[in-house]
Amino acid sequence: MTDKTNESETTRAETLGFTAEVARLLHMMVHSVYSNTDVFLRELVSNASDACERQRHEALTAGEGGADEAFLISIETDRDAGRLTIRDNGIGMNRDEMIENLGRIAHSGTRAFVEKLQDGKEASELIGQFGVGFYSAFMVADEVEVTSRRAGEAGAWRWRSDGAGSYTIEPVAPEEAPARGTVVTLELKDDHKDYAAPETIERVIRTYSANVPVPIVLKAGAEDEKRLGEGGALWRKPKASIDKDEYTNFYRLVSGQYDEPALTVHYHAEGRHEYSVLTFVPTIKPFDLFDPARKGGVKLYVRRVFITDDAEILPRYLRFVRGVIDSEDLPLNISREMLQKNPILEAIGHGVTKRMLADLEKLAEAEPEAYLKIWEAFGPVIKEGLYEDPERRDPLLALARFRTTTGGETWRSLKDYVADLKENQTKIYYLLADSAAAAAASPHLEGYRKRGVEVLLLTDPVDAFWVATALGFDGKGFQSVTQGASDLDAIPAAEGEEAPKPETESAVAALAAFVKDALGDKVSDVRVSHRLADSPVCLVATDFGLDRRLEKIMATHQGGGLSAPVLELNPAHETVALIAEKLAGAADKGLIEDAAALLYGQARVLDGEAPDDPADFGRRLMRLMTAALR
Ligand code: ADP
Repeated sequence: MTDKTNESETTRAETLGFTAEVARLLHMMVHSVYSNTDVFLRELVSNASDACERQRHEALTAGEGGADEAFLISIETDRDAGRLTIRDNGIGMNRDEMIENLGRIAHSGTRAFVEKLQDGKEASELIGQFGVGFYSAFMVADEVEVTSRRAGEAGAWRWRSDGAGSYTIEPVAPEEAPARGTVVTLELKDDHKDYAAPETIERVIRTYSANVPVPIVLKAGAEDEKRLGEGGALWRKPKASIDKDEYTNFYRLVSGQYDEPALTVHYHAEGRHEYSVLTFVPTIKPFDLFDPARKGGVKLYVRRVFITDDAEILPRYLRFVRGVIDSEDLPLNISREMLQKNPILEAIGHGVTKRMLADLEKLAEAEPEAYLKIWEAFGPVIKEGLYEDPERRDPLLALARFRTTTGGETWRSLKDYVADLKENQTKIYYLLADSAAAAAASPHLEGYRKRGVEVLLLTDPVDAFWVATALGFDGKGFQSVTQGASDLDAIPAAEGEEAPKPETESAVAALAAFVKDALGDKVSDVRVSHRLADSPVCLVATDFGLDRRLEKIMATHQGGGLSAPVLELNPAHETVALIAEKLAGAADKGLIEDAAALLYGQARVLDGEAPDDPADFGRRLMRLMTAALR
């Protein structure tokens, strides 16, 4: 079968080094103390189960049947030797796959884990959040051996390591290897010998792996064999027969996380398409939530056979959802190409999306606290749907929660907002800002605060986009407080507020005309406004332009400049009124020009920018200060 050269190459045991990342990870596995080491078994069993499901799928697509083949995971304990063995008849690995999968970090979850470790996060905590797959075996074992034969290949290979920097790979005689699949053997550390006790394994499997889709047997000696899991598909069982722990375990199995699901959606759809759904919303944000390359978290099954976990079934704004969708109608041997733009899959995606949104809304009503936790973790992602999925904008707007100027620490819905509109208020006001602190400091809010008008504080990057396209809620349009002429005048101010005198108003109007002249095309207009209370000036976008924050975001991403803003003057501000008086009194025009330039510079500063000509700004400021001090 093999010629001479090949033979000499493939009979030697080679020693290979782990990549630096793996070496670091393993060093930590070997040397740290963990509060929960049980998770290693879940990781190994889940790898064994994945290998069986991949083999089942591969056999099907190759037209070899296989759905009915008896897949099995068997776990053997040897108390005397202090050894634990996990065996599967899945797809197996050849030499190259062992090097690729067990020698470097190919898996994105593990990479993220290592990155977090470098950020100084606590390892034991992180293992709970991520799981680190195969390498977690080194938490409990001094030495790990993996013997495997790839489906359809003649040769078999053995990988062995003590986790200290390197591993060996050697070919093994056919009789020493499984006919197909993988055997993982752990030589347990002295203080973890209890994993060689069948009671321990049974407890751990029942806790973490009870619903693995492949049957599991536990062998403690030749005679002693016990079936631990039937490999049944939990999602096909009636809801009433499943308890909360079973759901949680299954969630942990499909998500690879160790938190509790915040929402569980389980149903069977019949009608035009028949399918079962068991999906979850996590409580903890996955590490790669904003990674554009992130795959969907929902596994596709066809009649209980695993097909793929990277079909995009749900829209991207639900990419935090984890779980299983099992179709009765798709063909088993569906190919990758057929999965794209598949009408059945699209219909299922629509159905599940609708149901998820409806269940989220129900949760929001029944258990607002639980819902707000979901919103805090995933709100910024859900809001992407407001512009990506206009068809579902209304249910999504109903799910949205906001920080507002009058809400303090409470999250407000648009329904709450509309219920509390002020007299004559016809719009939903919002402010786009980089952060809550920047929003709170914005001068644009002053007039709204004075009138008790609520303003939504939108501080997520996605906000600038959806709010520009959303048509409104409950018949009320969205209006940026930094854009267009303020229409606050119709809304009565709180008691005891004094409006500026008419003569002041007209003097400030004259000042506005002067300032416009002085500033030229730096501004598109200068006008008197009642948007402000304590600040003398602010900049706003023109009526038909883009909101200034959106414009800034687009300029950063796509280049291009900003359009000239409108400068607004506050007639109720003493300084503004005094400058207007000076102008009316035909004072030194140079002084007023300095004042005009300084007002504009200050408006820019209030907007978080520098004066457009800092040297000129400084010179004028000094001139005015000198005049005042002289
Ligand atoms: P993952 O989260 O991808 O499972 P692991 O570190 O646990 O990360 O495993 C790395 C890779 O090694 C797997 O993706 C798989 O390709 C391979 N692998 C691990 N265990 C097995 C097994 N029992 N059978 C076949 N392949 C396996």
